[in-house]
Amino acid sequence: MLEQAQRVLKDIFGYDSFRGRQGAIIECVAKGGDALVLMPTGGGKSLCFQVPALLRPGLAVVVSPLIALMEDQVATLDELGVAAASLNSTLSAEQQRELAGRIRRGEVKMLYLAPERLVQQRMLDFLRTLDIALFAIDEAHCVSQWGHDFRPEYLQLGQLAELFPHVPRIALTATADMRTREEIVTRLHLQNAERFLSSFDRPNIFYRIVPKEQPRKQLLAFLGERRGNAGIVYCLSRKKVDDVAAYLCDQGFPALPYHAGLPAETRASNQRRFLNEEGLIMVATIAFGMGIDKPNVRFVAHLDLPKSLEAYYQETGRAGRDGLPADAWMAYGLQDMVMLKQMLQNSEGDERHKRIEQHKLDAMLALCEETRCRRQILLNYFDEELPQPCGHCDNCIDGVQTWDATEPARQALSAVYRTGQRYGVGHLVDVLLGRDNEKVRSFGHEKLAVYGVGKARSESEWRSLFRQLVARGLADIDLEGYGGLRLSDSCRPLLRGEVSLELRRDLKPQTTSKGSSSGGSPASQLVRGDEREQWEALRALRRKLAEEHGVPPYVIFPDSTLLEMLRSQPSSLSEMAQVSGVGARKLERYGEAFLEVLGGAAEAPPQVTDLRHELTSLARAGMTPAQIAGQLNCSEKNVYSMLAEAIGRHQLSLEQALDLPEDLLAEVQDAFLDGEGELPPVSAIAEQFGSRVPEGVLYCVRAALAAEFEM
Ligand code: ADP
Ligand code: ZN
Repeated sequence: MLEQAQRVLKDIFGYDSFRGRQGAIIECVAKGGDALVLMPTGGGKSLCFQVPALLRPGLAVVVSPLIALMEDQVATLDELGVAAASLNSTLSAEQQRELAGRIRRGEVKMLYLAPERLVQQRMLDFLRTLDIALFAIDEAHCVSQWGHDFRPEYLQLGQLAELFPHVPRIALTATADMRTREEIVTRLHLQNAERFLSSFDRPNIFYRIVPKEQPRKQLLAFLGERRGNAGIVYCLSRKKVDDVAAYLCDQGFPALPYHAGLPAETRASNQRRFLNEEGLIMVATIAFGMGIDKPNVRFVAHLDLPKSLEAYYQETGRAGRDGLPADAWMAYGLQDMVMLKQMLQNSEGDERHKRIEQHKLDAMLALCEETRCRRQILLNYFDEELPQPCGHCDNCIDGVQTWDATEPARQALSAVYRTGQRYGVGHLVDVLLGRDNEKVRSFGHEKLAVYGVGKARSESEWRSLFRQLVARGLADIDLEGYGGLRLSDSCRPLLRGEVSLELRRDLKPQTTSKGSSSGGSPASQLVRGDEREQWEALRALRRKLAEEHGVPPYVIFPDSTLLEMLRSQPSSLSEMAQVSGVGARKLERYGEAFLEVLGGAAEAPPQVTDLRHELTSLARAGMTPAQIAGQLNCSEKNVYSMLAEAIGRHQLSLEQALDLPEDLLAEVQDAFLDGEGELPPVSAIAEQFGSRVPEGVLYCVRAALAAEFEM
C-alpha cells in the first residue's frame, strides 16, 4: 500500500517522500480507517486525503468551509491532471446538473463542497447511489462552538458515520488545543479514529518582537529588506489599516488595505490581487485570514499586539506555508497593552470569561518581554516541549541582556504611589526625570521626594521599565479612568525589598535598513544577488502561464520548486523530472518552457542513446507512453518497443512503464502463461484482447515475464 502511495506521490505530485506523518495517515485512510489529523499550517494536510482518494476506488468527498479554499484546491488538482470539481453556489442549475452527470459517469475523482450542501437530503441520497472513496472534513475545528470559526452546519456532519458506516472519514485541522480536539471527536463521531498529532512547531518561521518606538519607520526598515516579497501587515483598527496602507504606497511599497468596513467588491478584489500577483503587501485587520492559502507569504508583521498567543500563532502561521524561510515580526509597546486591556474591559461577557481572556493576554505579554527562546515559550504554551533553544528567533540570535532593575523599579512604583495612583506613564516619567513643566507644577509634584530621582536614566529606559512593570503585573492600568497606573498587590514584596527584579534591556530600535536588529534574518531574501536575474525570469514565465490558465502563480509551481530549479539547474526533461514538485503532468506541460528559461533547452534533438535514457527517466517520473511520445516527438509504437527493451534489460519495472489496472494485467499475464513451455509471441494472443489492450502493452508485459523468468 505504502509503495503505491509513494508512486502516486511521485507521479502525480512530483514529490519524493512523505513529510512527517503523512505516510502513516495515508496508509490508515487508504485501508479504510478513520483518522483525526492535527497538523500545523503548511504541514501538508491536503495530501493526507488526496493521496488515499487516488488510491481508493470511487468518489472522494471533501468538505471545506470556504469557496476560496475549494477553488484553490480544485485549480491545483486540475493542474496536476486530477479530475476534481467543486459544487458551490456560484454554479448555475444547468452547471450543477452537468456536474452531477459527470459524477455519475465516474468522471470526477474528488468533489469539494460546503457542509450545508453535503447535508442536504437530496445530496445525501445522491451520494448513497455512488461508490464513495472517503469523506475528508477539512478545517474540522469549525465544529467547535468555542472557536471563532464556528460553523453550525459542521455539527450535522456527525450523521455521516451512520449513513456511510463503511466509508473512511478523515478530519483535519491546524488548531491544536485539547478542547477543540475532543469536540471534533465527539461531534463528528470519530471515537474510533486513529489520531495523528504532529508537532506544531513552524521551524521555517523566524520570530522577532521589538519595542515600539517609531512604528512606521521601524516597519519601513523591516519591509525595505524584503522588497518584492508578499506579506501581511496586521493592525488593530480599520482606520489604522487605511492609514498604513496609504503610507506604504506613498513610500513606494505595493500595499492594499483589507478590513470588514470596505465594500465587499473591494475586499474580494484586493484578496484576489494578493493571491494572484506577486510581492503585494496586504495591510489588514484580523478579518483577513482564514481562506488565505497562499503558500508564499514571506512575512507577517504586527503593528499591534494580538490578544492571545493563540491568535499570534495563527496569524504568524500564515507566513511560510511553503516551508521556505519566512518572518514573523512585531512591534509592541505600552499603548498596546492599554488598548487591549480597555477593549477587554468594555467587552461583553461574564466575569469568568473576562478572566480567561485576561490570562490569555498576560501570556501574550509575557512572550513579548521574554528573555528566553521565543519558540520554546510559544510551544510550551501549547503543551509541547522543545528541549533546546531554537537558534532561530531574535532572543536566540541576538542574545538578551538583562539588568538588575530592583532599585529603579522601586523608584518608579513609588512615583506611582506618591502621585496618587492616577497618572499615565508620560507624567510619571516627567516626575522621575525632574522635568519642570506646567502639569508637574500645577499638582505640586516638584515637591515630592521622587521628583528628579531618575535623572541618571533616559526617557526611553523609563518607558521600557514601566512597560515591563505592567506586562509583569507589578502595576495595573486604571481602565475606567484615563489609563493611569496603580500599584498591584503583587508589587509589595518588591517594594519591601524582599525580592529583586531582572528586566530585559531593550535594544536600540533600528529604523534604517542596515544592521539586523530591525528584523534582518536569514529569511529576508530567498535568492542571492547573482541568482536574481534568472529567478525573476522563472517567476515571469510562471506568471505568464498562470495568466493563461487563469490560476494563481503558485498553482503552476510553488516557490520551493522554482528555487530548486534555480539551484539544481536541470538541463533535460529527465533532470527536470527530479525536481521536487514536478509531477508527470506538469513536466509534460511546462517542462520545456522552464528549461528554455534556464538555458538548457534549445539543444539539438537527442541522440539515440540519449533518447533511451530520456525515455526511462520520463517513465520513472510517471509519464504515460502517450505523454512520452509527445515529449520525445516519436510514435507511441516506438515508445512501447523502447519501453519493452528497457524492461528486458531490467532498467525499468513494468509498473514504472505502464499504468495498468491490476485485474487487466493479471488477465494478460495469464494469457501468456497459459500455454506450456515457452512464452508465446505477442501475435498469438493479440487477437484475444482486440482493441482493449494496445499491442505495445502486450510487448511490455511479455518482456517483463521474460525478464523475470530469464526466458
Ligand atoms: P496545510 O493544508 O497543512 O497548510 P498544504 O497541504 O497546503 O498544507 O501543504 C503545504 C505545501 O507543502 C504545499 O505547497 C504542498 O504541495 C507541500 N507539500 C505537502 N506535502 C509535501 C511533501 N511530502 N513533499 C514536498 N512538498 C509537500
Ligand atoms: Zn529561539
